[in-house]
Amino acid sequence: MQGIYIHIPFCKSRCIYCDFYSTTKLDLREKYVNSLCNEMVSRHNYLCNEDYNTIYIGGGTPSQLSLPQLSKIIFHLYSTFRIAKNAEFTIEVNPDDISDELLKYLKTSPVNRISMGVQTFSDQRLQFLHRRHSVAQVSKAVELCRQYGFHNISIDLIFGFPNQILDEWKSDVSQALAIDVPHISAYSLMYEEGTRLTQMRDNGQISEIPDDTSCKMYDYLCTTLKDAGYIHYEISNFCKPNFHSRHNSSYWNNVPYLGLGAGAHSFDGNSRQWNSVMHNGEWEVEDIERLSPLQKYNEYIMTRLRTMQGVELDTLNSDFTYYFSQVKHLVDRHISNGNLKVNTDTRCLVLTLQGIHISNLVISDLMLTEE
Ligand code: SF4
Repeated sequence: MQGIYIHIPFCKSRCIYCDFYSTTKLDLREKYVNSLCNEMVSRHNYLCNEDYNTIYIGGGTPSQLSLPQLSKIIFHLYSTFRIAKNAEFTIEVNPDDISDELLKYLKTSPVNRISMGVQTFSDQRLQFLHRRHSVAQVSKAVELCRQYGFHNISIDLIFGFPNQILDEWKSDVSQALAIDVPHISAYSLMYEEGTRLTQMRDNGQISEIPDDTSCKMYDYLCTTLKDAGYIHYEISNFCKPNFHSRHNSSYWNNVPYLGLGAGAHSFDGNSRQWNSVMHNGEWEVEDIERLSPLQKYNEYIMTRLRTMQGVELDTLNSDFTYYFSQVKHLVDRHISNGNLKVNTDTRCLVLTLQGIHISNLVISDLMLTEE
């Protein structure tokens, strides 16, 4: 199992909460696509021993590319890399970019999964975020995807808006269930450094909702989606059986991947590589870091504890004996405090619902720093 991530850092406009790397200089798209195809050729040997099982075109907004640009990327991808026949191939789209024309093209391509940035079912909240789509466009977009045979659809949701009350979130969750997609990712609104949203909070224009309201929203989400038949397979991710994101699950399982495009990073199992941001439609590999045994331990804890599968006690005892012995007393304390539990069937350490509320704290407790 290994994957390819392709970053398309173009957005028509910037949303106020976003700190992802992207630009609104859409006139650079053509040059960017050419650079991307060149990067594919120059890095075709990066992970060349196996077929690629997952492809993910993310952004930014990949659906802001023209069809010839998208088609050029996909053509080059398949002519450069060995991609498995049954590969999961996801593309991120904005609901307002979904059209007959786009879907007609995607249907002729190997794309088989669509990830849609829905965020909220309130037009007022969408405007607040500076998203470009409306609520009405969401159900139309999902319906159109289905008409073209795309049933493997994921939507992103955000909760915890300023002044949001639990009933408003309940309504969002029920509207998300009504469109009946097999995968839902839900995140609390984050106040990232340097964003307009954070500036508004710091200026006193808006305020964050209390932690206990946010916890209640998350608990409601977990219970309601579970009752509706979704599996809660990662802190922020829920799916119907067999519809988990294979690509994202690979990240959490430390599977190697090649990241193409400005700002993308790659992992070959032992080291990470970072691409620089774009300068005039071009970029380069900026940094390479070989992971130390301690970094591998920390990454294992950080990624796997977020998943329903959890951290394997056998792996901790065999591969990370030295590090695990240093945090064993903290693991025991979190177990007795009800934040962690051991799944006796799988012999894995997992977060409880109470532990998920303070997951950052529990995870950072179990991570270690260089001596
Ligand atoms: S569309 Fe996505 S990537 Fe672009 S600014 Fe908005 S949240 Fe960020």
